[in-house]
Amino acid sequence: AGAGVDVTVVEAGDAPLATALGTRVGAWTAPWYEAAGVRLLTGSPVAAVAPGEVALASGEVLPADVVLVAVGARPASAWLAPTLPLEGDGSLAVDEAYRVLAAPDLPVVALGDLARRRSARHGWVSGGHWDGALRGPAIAVRRLLGGPPQPADDLAPYVFSTQLGHDLALYGAPGRDDDVVVRGEVAGAFTALWFAPGSERLTGVLAVDTPRDVAAARKLFAGPELPRLDRDAAADPGRPLRSPRA
Ligand SMILES: Cc1cc2nc3c(=O)[nH]c(=O)nc-3n(C[C@H](O)[C@H](O)[C@H](O)COP(=O)(O)OP(=O)(O)OC[C@H]3O[C@@H](n4cnc5c(N)ncnc54)[C@H](O)[C@@H]3O)c2cc1C
Repeated sequence: AGAGVDVTVVEAGDAPLATALGTRVGAWTAPWYEAAGVRLLTGSPVAAVAPGEVALASGEVLPADVVLVAVGARPASAWLAPTLPLEGDGSLAVDEAYRVLAAPDLPVVALGDLARRRSARHGWVSGGHWDGALRGPAIAVRRLLGGPPQPADDLAPYVFSTQLGHDLALYGAPGRDDDVVVRGEVAGAFTALWFAPGSERLTGVLAVDTPRDVAAARKLFAGPELPRLDRDAAADPGRPLRSPRA
């Protein structure tokens, strides 16, 4: 769009990034598209793509010289199925040491996008992100060689991205029904905090152009359990983001 090209983003969900962030927080990114000169259509599943056009389920047809499809990824693991039972999404469920749970007697580990890891802090953690694929192997190899578990082995899910000029970092694993607390202004730099419903247990942190909160979030999710935060204090961007019990 910055080069003067007409760009339309067509999103099936009700907001950008809704799968990862939920509809409410995802919707806070929608104004970024307009600011970048990009037309954003949400709630608009694509029905078909043909040369020169994109047909939406609504019947609307968008002319298009170039179509970029970005609709997610899943492990190409069908060839493993005769040997190891796969989850419905093609992943392999693994324990805290990345051992494949379906093969407890075999020295088989799974890592990266293929692995769905059991985490004491976050429940089941899916792959799909660079950080886990990078840091998991050293842990898996140490455990394979008989090394002891270490507290830092339970990696917090961490995703970083740049979206339309905004730096995003997501730590933890927000739940669909979690409460959301905002720190800062969603029209500018802000941090979204997810809490388990009605509790002080922090499940996820999204830092948008707030690098200090990225460092804080990394520390918060380093303990054996989900951190506990006072919601009112955490919502105040003038106060550091940390657990009062830390
Ligand atoms: C376009 C794109 C953008 C991304 N952006 C981000 C981002 O901003 N931040 C982030 O955290 N993550 C991002 N990711 C995700 C990140 O790249 C992956 O999570 C990470 O690469 C996973 O590492 P991996 O080793 O599990 O799998 P991969 O990197 O996919 O490596 C798997 C390798 O296995 C090979 N392979 C597959 N099947 C077989 C077979 N049967 N036999 C032999 N070899 C095989 C493949 O050819 C491939 O080389 C992005 C991914 C994509 C595609």
